[in-house]
Amino acid sequence: AKALAGGRWSSFDPSAAVRQARSRRLERDMRDALRNRQFFLRFQPQIEFASGRLLGAEALIRWNHPEFGLISPAEFIPIAESSGLICEIGRWTLFEACREAAAWPGELGVAVNVSALQFEQSDIEADVSEALSGSGLPSSRLCLELTESAFLGNGGAVIAKMCALRETGVVIALDDFGTGYSSMSYLADLPLDKLKIDQSFVRRMNANPNVLEIVRAIISLANGLKLQVVAEGVETELEADALQRLGCETGQGYLFGRPDEAIRMLSKWNAQKRL
Ligand code: C2E
Ligand code: CA
Ligand code: CA
Ligand code: CA
Repeated sequence: AKALAGGRWSSFDPSAAVRQARSRRLERDMRDALRNRQFFLRFQPQIEFASGRLLGAEALIRWNHPEFGLISPAEFIPIAESSGLICEIGRWTLFEACREAAAWPGELGVAVNVSALQFEQSDIEADVSEALSGSGLPSSRLCLELTESAFLGNGGAVIAKMCALRETGVVIALDDFGTGYSSMSYLADLPLDKLKIDQSFVRRMNANPNVLEIVRAIISLANGLKLQVVAEGVETELEADALQRLGCETGQGYLFGRPDEAIRMLSKWNAQKRL
Protein backbone atom coordinates (compact mmCIF):
# COMPACT_ATOMS: atom_id res chain seq x y z
CA ALA A 1 0.00 0.00 0.00
CA LYS A 2 1.01 3.57 -0.52
CA ALA A 3 1.57 6.28 1.98
CA LEU A 4 -1.60 8.30 1.76
CA ALA A 5 -1.06 11.40 3.79
CA GLY A 6 -2.01 15.01 3.29
CA GLY A 7 -5.42 16.62 3.34
CA ARG A 8 -8.27 15.85 5.66
CA TRP A 9 -9.24 12.66 3.89
CA SER A 10 -6.73 10.15 2.59
CA SER A 11 -6.69 10.53 -1.17
CA PHE A 12 -6.19 7.76 -3.67
CA ASP A 13 -4.64 7.17 -7.07
CA PRO A 14 -7.41 7.39 -9.65
CA SER A 15 -6.07 4.68 -11.93
CA ALA A 16 -8.53 1.80 -12.17
CA ALA A 17 -6.22 -1.00 -11.02
CA VAL A 18 -5.09 0.90 -7.95
CA ARG A 19 -8.66 1.88 -7.16
CA GLN A 20 -9.78 -1.73 -7.38
CA ALA A 21 -6.99 -2.94 -5.15
CA ARG A 22 -7.79 -0.27 -2.58
CA SER A 23 -11.46 -1.10 -2.75
CA ARG A 24 -10.76 -4.80 -2.12
CA ARG A 25 -8.48 -3.89 0.75
CA LEU A 26 -11.13 -1.62 2.30
CA GLU A 27 -13.75 -4.31 1.92
CA ARG A 28 -11.53 -6.78 3.75
CA ASP A 29 -10.62 -4.32 6.51
CA MET A 30 -14.23 -3.22 6.97
CA ARG A 31 -15.17 -6.62 8.32
CA ASP A 32 -13.17 -5.94 11.49
CA ALA A 33 -13.68 -2.18 11.63
CA LEU A 34 -16.87 -2.36 13.68
CA ARG A 35 -15.41 -4.72 16.24
CA ASN A 36 -12.24 -2.61 16.43
CA ARG A 37 -14.25 0.57 16.97
CA GLN A 38 -12.86 2.35 13.94
CA PHE A 39 -16.20 3.95 13.03
CA PHE A 40 -17.51 7.06 14.71
CA LEU A 41 -20.24 9.60 14.10
CA ARG A 42 -20.15 13.31 13.43
CA PHE A 43 -23.22 15.50 13.70
CA GLN A 44 -24.14 18.39 11.43
CA PRO A 45 -26.65 20.97 12.70
CA GLN A 46 -30.01 21.56 11.04
CA ILE A 47 -31.12 25.14 11.58
CA GLU A 48 -34.48 26.88 11.29
CA PHE A 49 -33.76 29.85 9.03
CA ALA A 50 -36.36 32.18 10.54
CA SER A 51 -35.28 31.82 14.17
CA GLY A 52 -31.68 30.67 13.80
CA ARG A 53 -32.64 27.87 16.19
CA LEU A 54 -31.03 24.42 16.26
CA LEU A 55 -33.68 21.82 15.39
CA GLY A 56 -31.50 18.73 15.32
CA ALA A 57 -28.58 17.18 13.51
CA GLU A 58 -27.73 14.64 10.84
CA ALA A 59 -25.47 11.77 11.88
CA LEU A 60 -22.65 11.21 9.39
CA ILE A 61 -20.38 8.19 9.69
CA ARG A 62 -16.58 8.35 9.62
CA TRP A 63 -14.02 5.56 9.35
CA ASN A 64 -10.66 5.99 11.01
CA HIS A 65 -8.62 3.39 9.14
CA PRO A 66 -5.50 2.26 11.04
CA GLU A 67 -3.28 2.73 8.00
CA PHE A 68 -5.07 5.15 5.65
CA GLY A 69 -6.49 7.50 8.25
CA LEU A 70 -9.90 9.10 7.81
CA ILE A 71 -11.86 7.64 4.92
CA SER A 72 -14.90 9.41 3.49
CA PRO A 73 -18.27 7.66 3.58
CA ALA A 74 -18.59 8.65 -0.09
CA GLU A 75 -15.84 6.09 -0.68
CA PHE A 76 -16.61 3.32 1.81
CA ILE A 77 -20.42 3.28 1.92
CA PRO A 78 -20.66 2.06 -1.71
CA ILE A 79 -18.17 -0.70 -0.83
CA ALA A 80 -20.21 -1.60 2.25
CA GLU A 81 -23.29 -1.75 0.04
CA SER A 82 -21.77 -4.03 -2.57
CA SER A 83 -20.36 -6.37 0.09
CA GLY A 84 -23.53 -6.47 2.17
CA LEU A 85 -21.76 -5.12 5.25
CA ILE A 86 -23.96 -2.03 5.07
CA CYS A 87 -26.66 -3.77 7.12
CA GLU A 88 -24.36 -4.29 10.08
CA ILE A 89 -22.76 -0.85 9.76
CA GLY A 90 -26.13 0.83 9.31
CA ARG A 91 -27.44 -0.90 12.41
CA TRP A 92 -24.47 0.34 14.39
CA THR A 93 -25.03 3.90 13.10
CA LEU A 94 -28.69 3.78 14.07
CA PHE A 95 -27.97 2.57 17.61
CA GLU A 96 -25.07 4.97 18.13
CA ALA A 97 -27.01 7.98 16.80
CA CYS A 98 -30.00 7.22 19.05
CA ARG A 99 -27.75 6.67 22.04
CA GLU A 100 -26.07 10.05 21.58
CA ALA A 101 -29.23 11.97 20.72
CA ALA A 102 -31.07 10.65 23.78
CA ALA A 103 -28.74 12.81 25.89
CA TRP A 104 -29.45 16.00 23.93
CA PRO A 105 -31.61 18.69 25.51
CA GLY A 106 -35.15 19.63 24.52
CA GLU A 107 -36.77 18.27 21.45
CA LEU A 108 -33.64 18.07 19.31
CA GLY A 109 -33.93 15.46 16.57
CA VAL A 110 -31.38 13.21 14.95
CA ALA A 111 -31.38 12.17 11.29
CA VAL A 112 -29.84 8.86 10.27
CA ASN A 113 -29.00 7.85 6.70
CA VAL A 114 -30.39 4.45 5.78
CA SER A 115 -29.12 2.76 2.63
CA ALA A 116 -31.64 1.34 0.22
CA LEU A 117 -30.15 -2.11 0.68
CA GLN A 118 -30.29 -1.87 4.46
CA PHE A 119 -33.90 -0.69 4.34
CA GLU A 120 -34.86 -3.55 2.09
CA GLN A 121 -32.81 -6.42 3.50
CA SER A 122 -32.63 -5.87 7.22
CA ASP A 123 -35.48 -5.91 9.70
CA ILE A 124 -35.42 -2.14 9.97
CA GLU A 125 -38.59 -1.97 12.08
CA ALA A 126 -37.10 -4.27 14.70
CA ASP A 127 -33.77 -2.42 14.63
CA VAL A 128 -35.44 0.98 15.02
CA SER A 129 -37.65 -0.21 17.82
CA GLU A 130 -34.67 -1.73 19.64
CA ALA A 131 -32.55 1.39 19.12
CA LEU A 132 -35.33 3.60 20.50
CA SER A 133 -36.19 1.46 23.50
CA GLY A 134 -32.54 0.83 24.31
CA SER A 135 -31.64 4.52 24.23
CA GLY A 136 -34.87 6.00 25.54
CA LEU A 137 -35.04 8.37 22.55
CA PRO A 138 -38.68 9.23 21.71
CA SER A 139 -39.60 8.04 18.21
CA SER A 140 -40.60 11.54 17.08
CA ARG A 141 -36.98 12.66 17.52
CA LEU A 142 -35.62 10.08 15.05
CA CYS A 143 -35.65 10.83 11.33
CA LEU A 144 -34.64 8.23 8.75
CA GLU A 145 -33.16 9.65 5.55
CA LEU A 146 -33.85 7.47 2.51
CA THR A 147 -32.87 8.11 -1.09
CA GLU A 148 -35.17 7.26 -3.94
CA SER A 149 -33.00 4.25 -4.76
CA ALA A 150 -34.84 2.60 -1.85
CA PHE A 151 -37.99 2.56 -3.97
CA LEU A 152 -36.54 1.19 -7.18
CA GLY A 153 -36.75 -2.48 -6.23
CA ASN A 154 -39.77 -3.74 -4.36
CA GLY A 155 -41.92 -0.63 -4.09
CA GLY A 156 -44.85 -2.22 -2.28
CA ALA A 157 -42.81 -3.84 0.48
CA VAL A 158 -40.82 -0.65 0.98
CA ILE A 159 -43.96 1.45 1.31
CA ALA A 160 -45.38 -1.01 3.83
CA LYS A 161 -42.21 -0.73 5.92
CA MET A 162 -42.29 3.05 5.74
CA CYS A 163 -45.92 3.13 6.84
CA ALA A 164 -45.21 0.82 9.78
CA LEU A 165 -42.28 2.97 10.87
CA ARG A 166 -44.26 6.16 10.54
CA GLU A 167 -47.03 4.71 12.64
CA THR A 168 -44.54 4.35 15.48
CA GLY A 169 -43.86 8.09 15.20
CA VAL A 170 -40.55 7.99 13.34
CA VAL A 171 -40.00 10.79 10.80
CA ILE A 172 -39.16 9.88 7.19
CA ALA A 173 -37.18 12.13 4.85
CA LEU A 174 -36.49 11.71 1.15
CA ASP A 175 -32.78 12.51 0.78
CA ASP A 176 -30.94 14.01 -2.20
CA PHE A 177 -34.23 15.07 -3.74
CA GLY A 178 -34.07 15.95 -7.42
CA THR A 179 -30.97 13.95 -8.28
CA GLY A 180 -32.68 10.65 -9.12
CA TYR A 181 -34.55 9.62 -12.21
CA SER A 182 -38.22 9.86 -11.46
CA SER A 183 -38.58 11.66 -8.16
CA MET A 184 -42.02 13.04 -9.00
CA SER A 185 -43.79 9.72 -9.32
CA TYR A 186 -42.74 8.68 -5.80
CA LEU A 187 -44.14 11.76 -4.15
CA ALA A 188 -47.72 10.78 -4.86
CA ASP A 189 -47.52 7.46 -3.03
CA LEU A 190 -44.78 7.60 -0.44
CA PRO A 191 -45.57 8.22 3.22
CA LEU A 192 -43.06 11.05 3.72
CA ASP A 193 -42.60 13.87 6.20
CA LYS A 194 -39.65 15.73 4.70
CA LEU A 195 -37.78 16.44 1.50
CA LYS A 196 -34.11 17.25 1.47
CA ILE A 197 -33.07 19.39 -1.49
CA ASP A 198 -29.78 18.07 -2.77
CA GLN A 199 -26.78 20.30 -2.32
CA SER A 200 -26.02 20.27 -6.06
CA PHE A 201 -29.06 22.57 -6.52
CA VAL A 202 -28.23 24.81 -3.59
CA ARG A 203 -24.69 25.27 -4.84
CA ARG A 204 -25.82 26.48 -8.27
CA MET A 205 -29.05 28.31 -7.47
CA ASN A 206 -27.57 31.79 -7.26
CA ALA A 207 -25.43 31.43 -10.38
CA ASN A 208 -27.97 29.83 -12.69
CA PRO A 209 -31.53 31.21 -12.95
CA ASN A 210 -32.80 27.85 -14.21
CA VAL A 211 -31.54 26.13 -11.09
CA LEU A 212 -33.19 28.81 -8.96
CA GLU A 213 -36.50 28.05 -10.70
CA ILE A 214 -36.06 24.34 -10.01
CA VAL A 215 -35.42 25.03 -6.32
CA ARG A 216 -38.46 27.31 -6.25
CA ALA A 217 -40.56 24.53 -7.80
CA ILE A 218 -39.27 21.86 -5.38
CA ILE A 219 -40.08 24.06 -2.37
CA SER A 220 -43.51 24.95 -3.66
CA LEU A 221 -44.22 21.29 -4.43
CA ALA A 222 -43.11 20.28 -0.93
CA ASN A 223 -45.21 22.98 0.68
CA GLY A 224 -48.22 21.91 -1.38
CA LEU A 225 -47.73 18.30 -0.29
CA LYS A 226 -47.35 19.41 3.35
CA LEU A 227 -43.79 18.14 3.51
CA GLN A 228 -41.09 19.95 5.46
CA VAL A 229 -38.19 21.07 3.31
CA VAL A 230 -34.56 20.92 4.37
CA ALA A 231 -31.90 22.39 2.09
CA GLU A 232 -28.51 20.69 2.30
CA GLY A 233 -25.14 22.19 1.45
CA VAL A 234 -26.01 25.76 2.54
CA GLU A 235 -22.67 27.53 2.53
CA THR A 236 -23.47 31.25 2.27
CA GLU A 237 -25.84 33.84 3.73
CA LEU A 238 -26.91 34.55 0.17
CA GLU A 239 -28.08 30.96 -0.24
CA ALA A 240 -29.79 30.93 3.15
CA ASP A 241 -31.64 34.18 2.36
CA ALA A 242 -32.75 32.97 -1.07
CA LEU A 243 -33.96 29.64 0.32
CA GLN A 244 -35.88 31.29 3.13
CA ARG A 245 -37.51 33.73 0.70
CA LEU A 246 -38.63 30.77 -1.40
CA GLY A 247 -40.36 29.19 1.61
CA CYS A 248 -37.79 26.66 2.78
CA GLU A 249 -37.79 26.48 6.59
CA THR A 250 -34.67 24.53 7.41
CA GLY A 251 -31.06 24.48 6.27
CA GLN A 252 -27.98 22.41 6.83
CA GLY A 253 -24.48 23.21 5.60
CA TYR A 254 -21.08 24.68 6.31
CA LEU A 255 -22.68 28.11 6.92
CA PHE A 256 -24.07 26.69 10.16
CA GLY A 257 -21.38 24.14 10.88
CA ARG A 258 -19.40 21.24 9.57
CA PRO A 259 -20.09 17.76 10.92
CA ASP A 260 -18.61 17.72 14.43
CA GLU A 261 -18.70 15.96 17.78
CA ALA A 262 -22.18 16.26 19.27
CA ILE A 263 -20.93 18.01 22.39
CA ARG A 264 -19.19 20.73 20.39
CA MET A 265 -22.13 21.21 18.06
CA LEU A 266 -24.49 21.56 21.03
CA SER A 267 -22.34 24.00 22.93
CA LYS A 268 -21.86 26.14 19.85
CA TRP A 269 -25.62 26.45 19.32
CA ASN A 270 -26.44 26.94 22.96
CA ALA A 271 -23.79 29.62 23.18
CA GLN A 272 -25.21 31.43 20.17
CA LYS A 273 -28.71 31.38 21.59
CA ARG A 274 -27.52 33.21 24.70
CA LEU A 275 -26.05 36.11 22.68
P1 C2E B 1 -25.61 13.04 2.31
O1 C2E B 1 -26.58 12.21 3.09
O2 C2E B 1 -26.16 13.80 1.16
O3 C2E B 1 -24.90 13.98 3.38
C1 C2E B 1 -24.47 15.29 3.13
C2 C2E B 1 -23.02 15.34 2.79
O4 C2E B 1 -22.69 16.67 2.43
C3 C2E B 1 -22.09 15.02 3.96
O5 C2E B 1 -20.91 14.45 3.42
C4 C2E B 1 -21.79 16.38 4.53
O6 C2E B 1 -20.59 16.44 5.28
C5 C2E B 1 -21.68 17.18 3.27
N1 C2E B 1 -21.95 18.60 3.47
C6 C2E B 1 -22.74 19.14 4.44
N2 C2E B 1 -22.80 20.47 4.32
C7 C2E B 1 -22.05 20.80 3.25
C8 C2E B 1 -21.74 22.06 2.62
O7 C2E B 1 -22.15 23.15 3.04
N3 C2E B 1 -20.94 22.00 1.52
C9 C2E B 1 -20.46 20.81 1.03
N4 C2E B 1 -19.67 20.86 -0.04
N5 C2E B 1 -20.74 19.61 1.61
C10 C2E B 1 -21.53 19.61 2.71
P2 C2E B 1 -20.26 13.15 4.07
O8 C2E B 1 -20.35 13.21 5.56
O9 C2E B 1 -18.92 13.00 3.44
O10 C2E B 1 -21.21 11.99 3.59
C11 C2E B 1 -21.33 11.68 2.23
C12 C2E B 1 -22.47 10.73 1.99
O11 C2E B 1 -22.19 9.46 2.60
C13 C2E B 1 -23.78 11.19 2.60
O12 C2E B 1 -24.40 12.12 1.74
C14 C2E B 1 -24.53 9.89 2.69
O13 C2E B 1 -25.10 9.55 1.44
C15 C2E B 1 -23.41 8.90 3.00
N6 C2E B 1 -23.40 8.61 4.45
C16 C2E B 1 -22.82 9.29 5.46
N7 C2E B 1 -23.04 8.69 6.64
C17 C2E B 1 -23.80 7.60 6.38
C18 C2E B 1 -24.38 6.56 7.19
O14 C2E B 1 -24.27 6.52 8.43
N8 C2E B 1 -25.09 5.59 6.52
C19 C2E B 1 -25.27 5.62 5.17
N9 C2E B 1 -25.97 4.64 4.59
N10 C2E B 1 -24.75 6.57 4.39
C20 C2E B 1 -24.02 7.56 4.98
CA1 CA C 1 -28.43 12.47 4.23
CA1 CA D 1 -26.95 14.92 -0.73
CA1 CA E 1 -26.73 10.84 -0.15
